[in-house]
Order: sequence, then structure tokens, then C-alpha cells
Amino acid sequence: NHAPTVTLNNDVTMPQLGFGVWQVSDTDTVDAVARALSVGYRAVDTAGAYGNEAGVGRAIAASGLDRGDVFITTKLANPHQGYENTMRAFEKSLQELGTDYVDLYLIHWPMPARDLYTDTWRAFERLYRDGHAKAIGVSNFEIAQLDRLANECTVTPAVNQIELHPHLVQDELRRYHAAHDIATEAWSPLGQGGDLLQDPVISRIAAGHGKTPAQVVIRWHLQLGNITIPKSVTPSRIAENFDVFDFTLTDTDMADITGLPQGHRLGPDPAVFQ
Ligand code: NAD
Repeated sequence: NHAPTVTLNNDVTMPQLGFGVWQVSDTDTVDAVARALSVGYRAVDTAGAYGNEAGVGRAIAASGLDRGDVFITTKLANPHQGYENTMRAFEKSLQELGTDYVDLYLIHWPMPARDLYTDTWRAFERLYRDGHAKAIGVSNFEIAQLDRLANECTVTPAVNQIELHPHLVQDELRRYHAAHDIATEAWSPLGQGGDLLQDPVISRIAAGHGKTPAQVVIRWHLQLGNITIPKSVTPSRIAENFDVFDFTLTDTDMADITGLPQGHRLGPDPAVFQ
């Protein structure tokens, strides 16, 4: 019982449904990731800034799975942007994770005012060419920054991981990604467990399928073509969020969810965050 995979623009395959560990302590991460792996997740999304790469690494090591069976994403923390800093921070991430490569390495935020993301991307290209990162991508990039990478750099990002949920469907960026062969990965896919999961439209659709609102929202992401990484530390919810492969939303369900009120950003605005 595994998630479907998507093929990235460099032919690497990535599970479409993975497990996120933002705001989970290093200790709790060990149990949460162990639970996720035991119910079938084969992808974990962490970051240098989360302080739990070591916990992710310990859980994978203890799982008995081969390293090649688990897809690890980590991200470069903002203070370490720039070519040399990136090389050092990446080495630290490998040590924490207890591995000699990552499957996907992301620039966590573009921080356009600091103007370091193209230099940082050149370091990413180096790590990619040397085989230390099987794929490289970005997070929280907007069209202006993606265009600049396209104009000034060589490797097209495999992924852009952005805030995306039914209250922020990101039509414009998704269209851009599709046109440029960049995979869309949704963060805070459940709207961080807030109002979204109480929405009457989603609750009605969930009742109709005998599933929960969280399962319906995850299914909406998968059918839209997003890669996604819901987070939970509750064992039953970790399993629930992966139990989404036995039903299909209708076109009307999809349209009703995509038609919910928009513009409700939960995280910072990438244009100004640093
Ligand atoms: P999410 O949308 O995955 O929501 C998680 C919260 O929803 C949980 O803490 C819990 O409160 C609730 N929840 C989870 N499963 C549930 C269920 N089955 N029923 C009811 N409630 C449930 O939020 P997130 O953690 O912000 O995002 C997921 C992952 O995305 C993160 O862990 C992280 O890996 C990644 N992320 C990346 C960035 C970035 O800047 N790149 C930013 C935020 C998050």
C-alpha cells in the first residue's frame, strides 16, 4: 500500500504523498516518522530550520528499510544562503540525517531583498552534478524568482514547494509550473488543521464518501496533481492521512473545493519574508 509517484523533470521519481515534520521536536520526530513509515509513507519532508533532521535519520535507520526506499527532502535554512555557506550547511544536513545523499534539496525561502538565491542555486547545481542531491528545487518562489533562475542559471528546479490548500489554490503558479516542467508541492495542505477542516462544503463531500475532511482535502491535492506532505504527530491521524487511495472525488467535488473562497494565506508572504 504505497503512494503513487510523480516523475520529476530529471526522471527522478518522488512519492506524491509524503510526511511533513515542521514544528515537531527532534524526539517526537523519531516516533512520528517511525509511525509514518510503518503505515506506508515513503517520503519525509524536513528542513535544516526544523531542528529535527537527526530524528528523521534515526527513524529511517531504525525502520529496517533500505535508504533507497525512502525519499528524503530537506531544505537550506535562510541564514545559510550564498555559495560557500550552502556547501557547509548541506554537509551538516547530511551528518544530521546520517546519510550520504538527499533525494531532494530545496532553497527554503527566496528572500529576494537579500538577493542571494542565484548564488545559492549555483551551489545547488554543484551538489546536484556531484550526485549529493538526486534532485534540487526551491520553496516559496514566485514567478519573478523562477524567471530569474531560468535566465541566469542552468538547472531548472525539479519542484517548487509552496503554500497551497483549498483556500489558496495558487492557479497562476501552478500554470507556470506546468508550462516549465516544475512539479508543484503543497505545504500546509490541510490549512494547518484550522477552519478548512470545518468547512461545510468539504464536510458534505466527506460524508458522501464516508471519509474525513482531511482525507478529502488530501485527495483533492492528489487529483489536482500536487505532491503533498501533511503533518500530524497523532498515530491515528498519521494513518488516516495515508488512507486515501480507496476513493475518488468526482469532477463536481473537485470544482466545489477549488471554488471555495480564496486568498487566505496562513504563512508569511514570500515577497517580503526573510
Ligand atoms: P498541515 O496543513 O499539514 O496541517 C497539520 C495540522 O493539521 C496538524 O498539526 C493537526 O493540527 C491537523 N491535522 C493533521 N491531520 C489531521 C486529521 N487527519 N484530522 C484533523 N486534523 C488534522 O500543516 P503544516 O505542518 O504547516 O504543513 C505540512 C508540512 O509542510 C510541514 O510539516 C512541513 O514539512 C511543510 N511546510 C513547509 C513550509 C515551507 O516554507 N516550505 C512551510 C510550512 C510547512
